[in-house]
Amino acid sequence: MFSLKTDLNSYWRSLLRILYPANCILCGIPLVLEETHLCEICAKRIEPIKAPTCLRCATPIPPYGNRYSTCSNCRSERPHYDRGFALVRYEDPVKTIFHQIKFEKKIWLLNIFSKLLERSSVPAETNGYDLIVPVPLDRSRERNRGFNQAAVIAQRLVRIHSASGFRMVKILKKKKRTLPQSQLRRQDRLNNLAGAFGIRKQGMARNKRILLVDDIFTTGSTMNECAKILKEDGAERVDFLAVARS
Ligand SMILES: [Zn+2]
Ligand SMILES: [Zn+2]
Repeated sequence: MFSLKTDLNSYWRSLLRILYPANCILCGIPLVLEETHLCEICAKRIEPIKAPTCLRCATPIPPYGNRYSTCSNCRSERPHYDRGFALVRYEDPVKTIFHQIKFEKKIWLLNIFSKLLERSSVPAETNGYDLIVPVPLDRSRERNRGFNQAAVIAQRLVRIHSASGFRMVKILKKKKRTLPQSQLRRQDRLNNLAGAFGIRKQGMARNKRILLVDDIFTTGSTMNECAKILKEDGAERVDFLAVARS
């Protein structure tokens, strides 16, 4: 019975591909049946982040020394999050893919990262979290785009682990519009984020173990500011997951 279902699925897939041929979203060549969104060559250009990485901020660290250590930046800056996970490097072609997701509103392209999300080391840890919290967008931007990609990723993570029963809760809100952090200098970044985020209802994070989710981690200051707000509200632990990291 199961194999009949599988056969039918692949039959429908083939039929659909014949009726609606698809092209690679990056180089434009026609895709073969097994490929979705990307051709094999473009898919191979996506660089996963491999161990060893800093336990705290997930930046790759030199492959010698202690595997379980933190980078020099985290040792001096002491970020508010406890541990970080990131799936791929925020370089081309990942930059182009996220540009299409965000500015051409092609939310379905997040599927490109689904397998990596399923296979990442985050799932092993997820039992330990009470809540999954997406990094919020300000209201006008979310309305304009039609979605918050961080919330879509968080929902997907919840679906992958539906058995473990954890929930996505939008604890955080964005109170003002900010400039892209990566375009600012350090002091301007701090000013830009000051007062930008808040808790929806005081005490929602109290004694909770939280996984904070965002699409891209560039300077880390947005993630750090969100972790700070959650800790100030009494969160026991705040880890983060970013799909892409610069
Ligand atoms: Zn291609
Ligand atoms: Zn670090």
